Amino acid sequence: MAVVGSGPAGLTAALYTARANLKPIVLEGEPSSTGDQPGGQLMITTEVENFPGFPEGVLGPDLMAKIRAQAERFGAELVTAKVTRADLQDGGPHTLWYPDPSTGEERQVKARAVVLAMGARSLMLDVPGESRLLGHGVSTCATCDGFFFRGQHIAVVGGGDSALEEATFLTHFAETVTIVHRRAELRASKIMQSRAVSNPKIRFLWNSVVTEVLGTDKVEGVRLRDVASGQEQVLAVTGLFVAIGHSPNSDVVKGQVELDAGGYVVTQPGTSLTSVQGVFACGDLQDHRYRQAVTAAGSGCMAALDAERWLEAQG
Ligand code: NAP
Repeated sequence: MAVVGSGPAGLTAALYTARANLKPIVLEGEPSSTGDQPGGQLMITTEVENFPGFPEGVLGPDLMAKIRAQAERFGAELVTAKVTRADLQDGGPHTLWYPDPSTGEERQVKARAVVLAMGARSLMLDVPGESRLLGHGVSTCATCDGFFFRGQHIAVVGGGDSALEEATFLTHFAETVTIVHRRAELRASKIMQSRAVSNPKIRFLWNSVVTEVLGTDKVEGVRLRDVASGQEQVLAVTGLFVAIGHSPNSDVVKGQVELDAGGYVVTQPGTSLTSVQGVFACGDLQDHRYRQAVTAAGSGCMAALDAERWLEAQG
């Protein structure tokens, strides 16, 4: 049994398969210059207030350390390495290659069942101040962080369904929400557009891009450039929600399991089954709708149970 990825989905799959005596090996990933890290997106989150069981809230990295320790307690073997290649055979065995964490030498693991849980990343603007202030006013998740912006003036970047949905949701908390979009036309569906346009708390800044996030240890404003005139202005906001899309980390299994047009692993509705027998997928790698730690953990549990039953059926 192998699990690829160590966010809430992968570690929950590891916990369940470990408790089922399947001795999972977890290839948990490794820190990289592009922001990847074992533990996934919660490692770049500060306070998590909506994970059940933590009435006082919990820091994202603390939550991941707890789930990791829980999986290890039942015998999951964690390897701090990123899978570089995969050979997934219908019905197995499946082979995964990864560099040895201490020597760098290429190693392989053969598994009868594999749970894919590599997650997704939020696309970022890549402007000065953005990564430094992530979790300190810069956010990629309105559901997670909206609550912290009660009565404040905030901005959302993007013109798709995500941006408009997040902006509309954020009006439950914020005083004003300014949608900054690089064109004068929205990509979002008509229904989302009319909902946002008719919301008195939302205003639009068209043909504008964020060139810098301002503030020392919390967001104090964003510098904007009008792409038509080149004119610059500073918008005084205390929050910036980046909603310009997501990208699933599916490269290593591309061409081996079915992916949708956005690169997400396709699972059979209501299950974690992929197009390859013995390969299961969970978490944000296959979910572009909910994207929550608790839904990822839930789907990791589903993948573990599906894998366990599949192995059982193979005798
Ligand atoms: P999206 O549709 O790809 O929209 C991304 C938006 O961000 C676009 O408006 C794009 O501008 C802008 N953008 C991209 N890169 C940028 C950059 N570097 N700087 C500034 N702006 C940038 O992504 P999404 O909104 O996350 O939606 C993804 C999919 O999920 C879509 O199919 C969507 O319909 C679906 N979705 C559905 C719902 C719902 O039905 N409830 C909710 C959320 C998402 P341009 O328009 O100029 O390209």
